[in-house]
Amino acid sequence: MILSFKGAAKTVTGSKHLITTQKGKKILLDCGLYQNSGRDNEDKNRNLGFNPAELDAVILSHAHIDHSGNLPLLIKQGFTGRIYCTPATKDLCDVMLMDSAHIHESDIVFLNKRRAREGKSLLKPLYTSKDVSRCLKHFYPIPYHNEFVINDEVSFVFSNAGHILGAAVINLTIKEENKTIRLTFTGDIGRPHDLIIKAPEKFPQADYIICESTYGNRLHEDSSMATDRLLNIVRETCIENKGKLLIPAFSLGRTQEIVYTLDRLKTMELLPPVKVYVDSPLSIDATEIMRNHSDCFNSDIQDYMKVDPDPFGFKNLIYVQDVEESKKINASDEPCIIIAASGMMEAGRIKHHLHHNIGKENCTLLVVGFVPPNSLGHRLLRGDKQVKIFGEEHSVKMRVTALNSYSAHADYKEIINFLSCQNPQEVKKIFLVHGNEDVMFDFKIKLMEAGFNHIEIPDLNDYYDL
Ligand SMILES: [Zn+2]
Repeated sequence: MILSFKGAAKTVTGSKHLITTQKGKKILLDCGLYQNSGRDNEDKNRNLGFNPAELDAVILSHAHIDHSGNLPLLIKQGFTGRIYCTPATKDLCDVMLMDSAHIHESDIVFLNKRRAREGKSLLKPLYTSKDVSRCLKHFYPIPYHNEFVINDEVSFVFSNAGHILGAAVINLTIKEENKTIRLTFTGDIGRPHDLIIKAPEKFPQADYIICESTYGNRLHEDSSMATDRLLNIVRETCIENKGKLLIPAFSLGRTQEIVYTLDRLKTMELLPPVKVYVDSPLSIDATEIMRNHSDCFNSDIQDYMKVDPDPFGFKNLIYVQDVEESKKINASDEPCIIIAASGMMEAGRIKHHLHHNIGKENCTLLVVGFVPPNSLGHRLLRGDKQVKIFGEEHSVKMRVTALNSYSAHADYKEIINFLSCQNPQEVKKIFLVHGNEDVMFDFKIKLMEAGFNHIEIPDLNDYYDL
């Protein structure tokens, strides 16, 4: 069989890995979008580097857009087969891919206005909501731990990756004339003590492993004090200073973690009586899907749900769907907590809330996720006193602080621990993907110290005959 790397090679987005079997069947692992800005990425998203019509099947690790976000284009360009994933991933893709299509559709309207002014030809969106509707019909859910036979050569079983709801490690068995190859794709690996999701689990012995390496040279901060710090920030901002606390958060995962933390504080009667707004329609959908898949939850939250059946709902918590309702929050000076997307502060309703509150000394911005270099979030965190929002200059008077212990990705010790279920002598190669090149080089050394001897760092379009 041939394994070729069609994305997330020496970079963190655009996950796509292609298997070609001895008999010429083609199976694609993930079909993610490149999400960094830049013309290069736009080209790479439009040109997949293989013919989708020739694919026999897709197996999807999880619903994040850098893993699933280019599936609609795959259908648009002629793919007719099934997309295998866990039931929770299917439900999440329903809302996340539709949201992605709406972003592409509105971005292109904005871009085309400028191109029309400049006399340039108009562009079409990468895909539309119609393409997403067609794509969703191809999804075929397979529960964790159920072996599924695709054809006489390829079968697979999903094990829990612990990264987000529904995230799976894909364990493939590929039969050839004289041998059987065991290939595992980790997808993204979660952390052993996620607040909500079950921990990553042991997976069957593999001959080859395609392994993510996002935090291949980093250790996360201790999370044991995170709840106390959050509570202190709520008290200082909302009670002592009578201000608003803004928490930018990804709609899926981080938002539910923060809401669940506040829910527990409420149950313990520690949370001050302030209103908490979750201001993101996508978060509302994602939360509902999480509620429907509580079988993916760890034992801590399952135990908690015996006392409080809804860990994502309490008195004073308000989910805001409507734009007008969202605007009303800023018309009032009442102290409150606002959780809104996007986590990176580059788009979404959080920008409106920042626009209204950034100049107020009694308000706080609490960053609980990754902010890429050059983003608004990054500039605020490093302490810039003057920033532009919607083209308007603002003096930063609000307090800006961060809680760095939240992460959906394992750090390097946690990945090595996750891989410790393997006998390194039996692993012929580990291919590092989904990381920056310098991080991968550091991680390669750490893996070799852990006993894994053959580590490859493939370039885009590199292929290996296994
Ligand atoms: Zn992910």
